[in-house]
Amino acid sequence: MNIAFIGLGNMGSPMASNLVKAGHRVTVFDLVESAMQALESEGAGRADSAEAATQGADVVISMLPAGVHVKGLYLGRDDAPGLLETLDASTPSTPNTPNTRPLIIDASTISPEDARTVAAAAAERGFTWLDAPVSGGVGGAKAGALTFIVGGSAEGFEQAKPVLDAMGKNVFHAGDNGAGQVAKICNNMLLGILMSGTAEALALGVKNGMDPAVLSEIMKQSSGGNWALNGYNPWPGVMEGAAAGRDYEGGFLTDLMAKDLGLAWELALGSKSTVPMGSQARNLFALHSAQGNGRLDFSSIQKLYREGE
Ligand code: NAD
Repeated sequence: MNIAFIGLGNMGSPMASNLVKAGHRVTVFDLVESAMQALESEGAGRADSAEAATQGADVVISMLPAGVHVKGLYLGRDDAPGLLETLDASTPSTPNTPNTRPLIIDASTISPEDARTVAAAAAERGFTWLDAPVSGGVGGAKAGALTFIVGGSAEGFEQAKPVLDAMGKNVFHAGDNGAGQVAKICNNMLLGILMSGTAEALALGVKNGMDPAVLSEIMKQSSGGNWALNGYNPWPGVMEGAAAGRDYEGGFLTDLMAKDLGLAWELALGSKSTVPMGSQARNLFALHSAQGNGRLDFSSIQKLYREGE
């Protein structure tokens, strides 16, 4: 298939790379030149704009930081037309011709409201647009083992599944547009709570004389075991390959976790839900970000508990 891929960050780059490896013709676009060059060296084509990347595409995939970027890309920004408009003009759909319009999949984590707004604008122009946020981190993206959580029509989901299978291990249909984001936001709120709780427990143990590796092994085999501790240990030197071992470079940025916890907070406000643990985690990650750690991996929340050591 001809696939346009927009957004080659920590996640988008390995995802696009797996599509190339699966034999798709992939054309990429990112604002960062070096990211496009890396994909080009792996066999992808590159374009000078999102509009150019999507010309002739069967599928358009975007992987951008937040809702403002996704709305800007599809709906337009600062008088520049969005992709829905440019694709509409380049792929006319008439009752007597087969629908040559690309399927659009946004894998970014954004609010359900933003996802529904863009999906509705896409539907008005005759496009199928799916929210398909992912879980699994950079490791999962590189290994082609992501979990996709899809919101949108059943037909769109069936159409998207073979493409998503090339980048993921589990592909769920969560419900209508926005449902993918609701599930993803609940998951990430839990992850934020688990990571900060794990960092807190490790710091407490170390302050009381424990070796962090020994303590981690004990908790992994006990009732405190969880995804953050077992697969993403935040204490430097405990787990090979974890972001903690490379000064928290790369991975899932603190700023993005703070954004997701903010989305959980908005969701809770809108539905009159109480999320005391999620609110606490949001404040911790927001404080950590304000202290200059926004571009570090979110497991660097460990540093917050080690201040003054
Ligand atoms: P990132 O900041 O590393 O990458 C985002 C990329 O988008 C950058 O390369 C940036 O240049 C590009 N970009 C921004 N605006 C653009 C535009 N208008 N046109 C083209 N490119 C544009 O972010 P990431 O870690 O790859 O995360 C992407 C999304 O996936 C976020 O919504 C995040 O919450 C979610 N997510 C991340 C992880 C993770 O572990 N990093 C895991 C699951 C979900």
